[in-house]
Parts: sequence; C-alpha cells; structure tokens
Amino acid sequence: MISKDQILTWLTAYINIVTVNADELNRLDSALGDGDFGASMLRGVQAITNKMQGIADKDIGVIFKTIGMALVSAMGGTSGPLLGTMFIQMGGKTAGKQSLSLTEWTDALQAGIDGIMARGKAQVGDKTMLDALVPALDALNAADGTDLIAALRQSAEAAKQGRDDTANIIAKKGRASYVGERGLGNIDPGAANIYLFLNALAETAAMTAMD
Ligand code: ADP
Ligand code: MG
Repeated sequence: MISKDQILTWLTAYINIVTVNADELNRLDSALGDGDFGASMLRGVQAITNKMQGIADKDIGVIFKTIGMALVSAMGGTSGPLLGTMFIQMGGKTAGKQSLSLTEWTDALQAGIDGIMARGKAQVGDKTMLDALVPALDALNAADGTDLIAALRQSAEAAKQGRDDTANIIAKKGRASYVGERGLGNIDPGAANIYLFLNALAETAAMTAMD
C-alpha cells in the first residue's frame, strides 16, 4: 500500500524536483512554446507548498483535490487547468482513503488521464503530457501486482521513455503545434514534468517502508 504519509512525502519530493528543474522546464518550453512552463510550474509547486500544512491530516482524496484546485488558480496557461483537473479527478477516485493499493493508484491515475483528455481533447501521439502519462498507466496495468515498488519504477521508466519519444513527434496540440516540424528533436515540457512527478513517487516508495 501507498500510505497517506508517503503521499505527503512524495508531494514534498515533487515540489523539490520541480523547483530544481524549473529553468530546464522553461528551456524546453522555449523550443516549442513561449518558455513559461517552468515559471508556471514553480507557481504551481509554491501553491502546493502553501497547502501542505492544511492537508496533512486529511484523507488522500482531499489532499489531491485541494492540490488540484490550488494548481488551477495558481498556474494559469494551458497546463494549469489540465494538471489541476488531473489532481481533482485523482482526488475523486481516492475520496476517503488513508492508503492506496496498486490497483487504487492505477484507477486514480486512469481517472486523472481521462480528465485531461476530456478537458484538453488531446490523444496519445499529439506531443503532450499524455505521451508520458498513458505509457505510465499502461505499465501499471501490465505490472506484476505483487511488487508495488517495482510497478511504480516501471511506471516511471515508461513515463521517461514516453517523454523521450515526444522528441520524434510533430505536435498537434497547444502552442507547440505552431512550431510544427521545427519542433522535432525537442522533448515536450509537459511530458518532462510528468516524469518528474511519477519518478518522485517511485523514489519515495523505494526509500520509505511499505507494507
Ligand atoms: P502555454 O504556455 O501554451 O499556455 P504551458 O506552457 O502552460 O502552455 O503548457 C505546455 C504543456 O501543456 C505542453 O508541454 C503539453 O504537455 C501540455 N499541453 C498542451 N496542450 C495540451 C492538451 N490539449 N492536452 C494535454 N496537454 C497539453
Ligand atoms: Mg508555455
């Protein structure tokens, strides 16, 4: 199981890794868009930081939902509402829970992806964050359900591969679609962020005791 405390540890790790990588996320967005993605994510993780104390004693559903709403209001841009929706939908799936089994986490991520797709109307292969998220979900579904840490590692690795593969895609959604073919060779910043998010989960799981 992934405990509520591990979720809080994961979120703190994610805040830190985004902060460290904000300049790089801006740089990636400069090649394909307007160069604001890192700055936008910094505002997002600052908003999460501001919520951490208030959500520490809440259930996982409330934690995810609160973060989602904070991201929507703090981030703006294209990615803010999409990432916010992902967290809000994950919160809906995990309402009342103090821990998540691998299946429950898989269901939550599925709901988050469905939310992004419903709102943003993008598909796999459009060169967006979905190109990291959907392979990560597929890896969870394909994993041997008896080893949670291994499943989370495989999921993060799939997100990394999906991120790298976006370099070979001509964007069909968002600002990157204006750049078109000239964007080839550049990875999508939104997909890069998803790898940071899911890798922070895998690392937290590996470093903290699980039962
Ligand atoms: P902008 O500056 O164009 O408003 P952001 O910099 O906030 O956008 O976010 C860019 C990221 O948003 C992209 O890297 C991509 O992953 C993601 N994105 C853009 N459009 C969509 C969409 N329709 N569905 C999912 N993700 C999207
Ligand atoms: Mg941008």
